Amino acid sequence: MGTWVDFKAVKQAVPIAAVLSHYGIDWLRKNAGDELRGRCPIHGGTDPTFQANTSKNNFQCFVPSCGAHGNVLDFVAAMEKCSVRDAALKLQDWFALASNTGGERSGTKAPATTSTGSQLAAEKTGETANEKNQPLTFTLKGIDHAHPYLTGRGIDNATAEKFGVGFFAGKGSMSGRIVIPIHNEVGELVAYAGRAIDGAEARYKLPAGFQKSQVVYNLHRAIQEEGRGNRDGLIVVEGFFDAMKVHQAGYPFVVALMGCTMTPAQEELLLEHAGMVLLMLDGDEAGKRATDEIGGRLLRSVFVKAVTVPEGKQPDMLSAGELRELLRVEKNPTA
Ligand SMILES: [Zn+2]
Repeated sequence: MGTWVDFKAVKQAVPIAAVLSHYGIDWLRKNAGDELRGRCPIHGGTDPTFQANTSKNNFQCFVPSCGAHGNVLDFVAAMEKCSVRDAALKLQDWFALASNTGGERSGTKAPATTSTGSQLAAEKTGETANEKNQPLTFTLKGIDHAHPYLTGRGIDNATAEKFGVGFFAGKGSMSGRIVIPIHNEVGELVAYAGRAIDGAEARYKLPAGFQKSQVVYNLHRAIQEEGRGNRDGLIVVEGFFDAMKVHQAGYPFVVALMGCTMTPAQEELLLEHAGMVLLMLDGDEAGKRATDEIGGRLLRSVFVKAVTVPEGKQPDMLSAGELRELLRVEKNPTA
């Protein structure tokens, strides 16, 4: 018994540009009109043999031995080496298209809230603002966990391996960056963030369509720790590297907001998993304002303590000793 899938509807609903960006294919250049051209993501190679047409919503590779061509379904089938039917199911999943089975999703993931009229309406208009992130269907290979950039920021090899971070030299949008795998609260990989190491325009790159607002970084590892009986409180920091440094200093019960704001979805996730929060944001003006704002909101439901990071510093700049000193004092003020 298979899930019924409307190929035509999927084909019409998903632009090829969205599929290309799903795969991190950002090297195609505008050729003429609605045509993009570049190296073929299916067979590889170095010549610009691949063409995608954004208005016709199709693609074609001119190398006879590859010869891949067709619509978005054919593209995904070629990339995943799967059937067109499985490709359609994947596209439904990735782009949260409602399948024609009474509004139910074809995916294994439940929607963020029980289906409501407004949610269905949002799906129809293609809005994804409050959608949960779909798990990635690939992992980046050949990540160098011992890259000097990490050493330079005080991240040791064991921590880099544990968090899966490292330099990615492969092809794609994250090429030449330090990649940081991001998981949802149940531990599914949902995105890679790419940190520039050469002072490039965007310091952090996140994939298009990734809903940062729906994720608390490192929460899945912190939850595992909680399961082992950690009752010291959840340490909440701003950045990826803050979280890694605090973890490395001996506090695995740490998560990052990926910025100095807390979205309602993040608040919900934190409240679900923390009885006490140690708020350890950056020691700058923005960090202080955020501490007041976020602390105030969390205080309505949990016990909150603000950890004062020295002026002008952020947790990832502090040594393990300095972090332990700060956290020891905050956890046990009379010590
Ligand atoms: Zn090709």
